[in-house]
Amino acid sequence: VKPSNSLSFSLQAKMSRPVQARRLEGIDKNIWVEFVKLAATYSKVNLGQGFPDFPAPDFLTDAFTRALGGGNHMLHQYTRAFGHPPLVKVLAQFFEKLLGRDLDPMTNVMVTVGAYQALFCCFQAFVDEGDEVIIIEPFFDCYEPMVKMAGGTPVFVPLRPNPPKDGKLMSSADWQLDPAELASKFSERTKAIVLNSPNNPLGKVFSHGELGLIAELCVKHDVLCISDEVYEWLVYDGKQHIRIASLQGMWDRTVMIGSAGKTFSATGWKVGWVLGPNRLLQHLRTVHQNSVYHCATIAQEAVAQGFQRELMLYGKPESYFVQLPKELQQKRDWLVQSLDGVGIKPIIPEGTYFLVADISQFKSDVPDVPNSDEPYDYRFAKWMVKNKGLAAIPLSAFYSEAHKNKFTNFIRFCFAKEDATLKAANDILQKWKREKTS
Ligand code: PMP
Repeated sequence: VKPSNSLSFSLQAKMSRPVQARRLEGIDKNIWVEFVKLAATYSKVNLGQGFPDFPAPDFLTDAFTRALGGGNHMLHQYTRAFGHPPLVKVLAQFFEKLLGRDLDPMTNVMVTVGAYQALFCCFQAFVDEGDEVIIIEPFFDCYEPMVKMAGGTPVFVPLRPNPPKDGKLMSSADWQLDPAELASKFSERTKAIVLNSPNNPLGKVFSHGELGLIAELCVKHDVLCISDEVYEWLVYDGKQHIRIASLQGMWDRTVMIGSAGKTFSATGWKVGWVLGPNRLLQHLRTVHQNSVYHCATIAQEAVAQGFQRELMLYGKPESYFVQLPKELQQKRDWLVQSLDGVGIKPIIPEGTYFLVADISQFKSDVPDVPNSDEPYDYRFAKWMVKNKGLAAIPLSAFYSEAHKNKFTNFIRFCFAKEDATLKAANDILQKWKREKTS
């Protein structure tokens, strides 16, 4: 065989080979890729993706600047793989207070590339081929593909809305689990349940009773709980965030996930963490050391200093964890009023910086396309950003394929925005309303 022939043969053989691993089948679509691009192209006001457009607090950015340009040049080098020692130490101290138990910074805490990587580590570490993982709908969308990538099967259980009879606005508390339905999803195949309280997208803060029910089922069926608590400080109206790990029988089977992005309004830093018993965390360390291995040292140093400050000011009015929810509650109330005023009925969130609202009354403006594969709320949100310049996220993006079509009358807004941004959104909505009625 001449060399040129063998070259063309090998090129051909290479091109016909399937390149995609089977585990990627069916998970190639991602709502954020599509809607972030739409928002960047068309939006005048972006209430879509969940990030603040106001600055992170000075004490945090100052800490970053000090770490960057201060005397310790070693902060530009690798640090401990499972978490920069000052950060894991202060996280252990902080959460010891909240959980009322001793924590070992080296074995009970691990730092991750945002909460996202913490979630990825959990599914890779705990879920085997054939395992089932219970996910409560609506859910932060990445849980489903991450379970599938690990070889597991997601099993969905919905929060069911019970609209108040007195004509009042609905609250996220009106969305509840049916205890019998939840119990029916647990079996010997169930490996874990994912809990997200406060919940993205609804803003639901699970009550002690609801958490008790989940805990009871986890203990009865020997199931792990992956508890995504990234919005733990964003709780309103005097409500309390309860950590399921503090309920009886739960510490040993729970991993708690947090995010400096959400906690300190610095989503771009991508610093997250996971806390739990060593019997679980040791396996997360195995995934971490064989995937990202290490997170940016300077960002970890700055977050450590942020937590030092918060530890000192714990519960005091100057604490950022006290101030931020206060400010966000005002923004929430403002957006509730604004949406209600134009007839986009808001579901009042008890927590997070998201608000889901009913677009039924605005549907007449956006043509329905019979037999379309695309859920109506996707079409509505795309139309709205292209024609009105206002970006939001369709709620059905937070549902499994099988249940998407039941929830196509809602969109999600993020209200962690400057007052001027929220006012600009209100101006768009008011103008739209006037055009509808004129
Ligand atoms: N969990 C939930 C519920 C979220 O809403 C988000 C971010 N939108 C994450 C995890 C990921 O957080 P991070 O940016 O820290 O990776």
